[in-house]
Amino acid sequence: PAIISAAEVTDAEAIHPGYGFLSENADFAERVERSGFTFIGPRAESIRLMGDKVSAKQAMREAGVPCVPGSDGALPDDPQEILRIARQIGYPVIIKAAGGGGGRGMRVVRTEAALITSVNMTREEARVAFGNPTVYMEKFLENPRHIEIQVLSDNFQNAVYLGERDCSMQRRNQKVLEEAPAFGIPRKLIDRLGNRCVEACRRIGYRGAGTFEFLYENGEFYFIEMNTRVQVEHPVTEMITGVDIVREQIRIAAGERLSVRQRDITMRGHAIECRINAEDPEHDFRPCPGKTEFLHLPGGPGVRVDTALYPGYEVSPFYDSLVAKVLVHAPTRLEAIRRMRRSLEELVIEGYPTNSALAHLIMHDGEFVRGQYDTSFLDKNLPRLLELARTCDTLTAE
Ligand code: ADP
Repeated sequence: PAIISAAEVTDAEAIHPGYGFLSENADFAERVERSGFTFIGPRAESIRLMGDKVSAKQAMREAGVPCVPGSDGALPDDPQEILRIARQIGYPVIIKAAGGGGGRGMRVVRTEAALITSVNMTREEARVAFGNPTVYMEKFLENPRHIEIQVLSDNFQNAVYLGERDCSMQRRNQKVLEEAPAFGIPRKLIDRLGNRCVEACRRIGYRGAGTFEFLYENGEFYFIEMNTRVQVEHPVTEMITGVDIVREQIRIAAGERLSVRQRDITMRGHAIECRINAEDPEHDFRPCPGKTEFLHLPGGPGVRVDTALYPGYEVSPFYDSLVAKVLVHAPTRLEAIRRMRRSLEELVIEGYPTNSALAHLIMHDGEFVRGQYDTSFLDKNLPRLLELARTCDTLTAE
């Protein structure tokens, strides 16, 4: 109601939901439209279809998009049936909430003995957190990369894909940094996948910006979910394609045609984004709201910082801990990495701890620099990186 009233008093025509929790809320999209404003995003029915991961996978399978092998639908109540499904898929499996998001509502199960308790626990958590106890099962891939395809689709059956992003650097299934293009994946495979995503958009009558998320292992892509909004990491794609994704979203919502055709879209150079969060890596990354006492942002060619921070800005405890996105663009991946190192050295945020030193250390890690990392990288390397950060701090203090 507060947002709708704000739109009324400011004579707004449309509402952009950002990428927060309202952006994938079909009820909000409907409320906006019912109140006489344009919702800058997909139709409520697309948000509903794709917001439920079980129906999203179903729709993708029908569109011929490969999915992670799994229960092909919600898990039944009967424990014997659940055990049978898991045996068929093969352990380890992962139990996921149909309404889950933000890396929450997932549990890996490695043995049959732990299965039923885990399913029940995930159901209960999903009911409390997402108001929907539906869970499903997938094969748990041990060392996948997270590769996603950005799409744009207008009201005239025009759809394009803007290449891919690699979001494999994750902590507890949440993205830490993103880059594009994805290192070492044949362009032919990406193009084939991109075309399938475009076909899927046409098939479901999708409108607006969206992202198809995949796991990539042993040369194969498996669909996991679709985000029916612009994502935190969209500037990575903007930097390498030169397409302003938010502008396209607004044009589409205004009933205009896409301003780009697939053949116009080319990728130039390499881009990386580091998410800077107000959090304490020394205390299990707990969010640390507080007052911004001092701020210095990096700049120069090929550097972009998306932030609302200014000196004196109070980081609130009520929202996500993301306070800035530091992005770089350069002709090659190695140059982008060096530019990111320099940018993170220039970045100064005082008043609360952040994860920026950790991002800086990742930029120096051998496996990262060689592009040889997957979603398990941080789980394996975090203790070593944190120890290194501590050593740097001690030596600096001395
Ligand atoms: P969310 O909506 O919470 O972001 P996703 O379905 O997008 O959840 O998954 C987030 C991350 O969890 C993935 O990028 C991946 O690292 C991990 N993950 C999800 N499903 C699997 C799976 N079947 N096997 C291995 N890892 C998975």
